[in-house]
Amino acid sequence: MGFESSESAVAVLGLEGFVLLAAVEVDGELHQLVETRAGIVGCSVCGGRALSKGRRRTKVRDLSCGGRPVVVVWVKRLWRCGDADCDVRGWSESSPLIAPRASLTERARAEACRRVGRDNHAVAQVARSLGVGWATVMNAVRDYGTPLVEDPGRIGAVSALGLDETAWQRANATRHTSFVTGFVDIVAGRLLDIVAGRSARVVEDWLEKRSENWLAGVAVKLAHAALVVDPFHVVRLANLAVDDVRRRVQRDELGHRGRKGDPLYGIRRLLLRADERLSEVARARMEAGLAAGDPDDELYVTWQAKEALRWMYAARTMVVAELRFDAFVTAAKSSVVPELHRLAKTMTKWRTEILAHHSTGASNGPTEAVNLLIKKVLRVAHGFRNLDNYRLRLLLHCGVKWQTPQATRIRGRAPRLVA
Ligand SMILES: [Zn+2]
Repeated sequence: MGFESSESAVAVLGLEGFVLLAAVEVDGELHQLVETRAGIVGCSVCGGRALSKGRRRTKVRDLSCGGRPVVVVWVKRLWRCGDADCDVRGWSESSPLIAPRASLTERARAEACRRVGRDNHAVAQVARSLGVGWATVMNAVRDYGTPLVEDPGRIGAVSALGLDETAWQRANATRHTSFVTGFVDIVAGRLLDIVAGRSARVVEDWLEKRSENWLAGVAVKLAHAALVVDPFHVVRLANLAVDDVRRRVQRDELGHRGRKGDPLYGIRRLLLRADERLSEVARARMEAGLAAGDPDDELYVTWQAKEALRWMYAARTMVVAELRFDAFVTAAKSSVVPELHRLAKTMTKWRTEILAHHSTGASNGPTEAVNLLIKKVLRVAHGFRNLDNYRLRLLLHCGVKWQTPQATRIRGRAPRLVA
């Protein structure tokens, strides 16, 4: 009471329901003393009229103003119920703009989320500029970012789907390199989702979660994309051949299905791993297994064929890819392994579509562009320990449409020639 805040002071403050009582600069920071617009308050239990119990100051950080950090000092009203029979002891007023015990106003939290998510600023940097802790900012990113990322309408209709794998955690003494598969809208150049792993299985699992409608929209392009862009299916066929040959040789040699202790069964996963990802020890184990269980080199030859296909995908140019592809087919056909003959036949049938992977630079562009953004997010954050945080940050940076009001131009474009 008594103090009439001017409308302009309220406008500058911009906090709905609050009035500015005073503003003062303290050590280069702007302190704004505020209170809510007074009104008659009732008890939330009995509805009786509330009586004042005094005031308490609570401080929160707000968006900076005029280049100065801002502290909002809210002079909170404390209430008690006027009805002596009521059980309610006392309470302080609350506002959706400033949560109880918060260290930031809600609009500052929303802005922190935008700066970290949309603009890819480091959490630590934003925390420093707001004068709060890392966890306070990260909580704001989670609270404001999760609804955007989990919005069922976010993914929307997609006509061409691209897949891409990225290493998000490098191997160290205690862990292997971890990969994620990114799903990219090739037309819009937008990241749709990120899931752990990079097998065909994780792709199928993700697709299974989409609606029939969504899949129908993407299906035409997906079949196309799967054959043109996606090495997953091709390498998977090669892996299936490796598995088939291993089982057959195993059965021929031992007279039963593979089980623990059998030389080939013991290396079944190593055989499917990419050659360059085999450690020296793993490589030696694989070779020992083959020496013990693959007397005619049938499995070894199939493994080589699988690697030859992967090698084809590493080609930088179409010409080299063609040469490698044809070398693979020739080798597979001249082998004595029936499973490889079958694989060579399938590959030959799809030769054009498979090799198109190397000529569709344009359609790969958006995936590559998203991939660069992904790497940028990783770099700014100095890596992630938590996949959920990583996914949240990536999707906020390149998978969400931010609705931000644009400031109007303060000067219109003047005509060049004015008489
Ligand atoms: Zn009451």
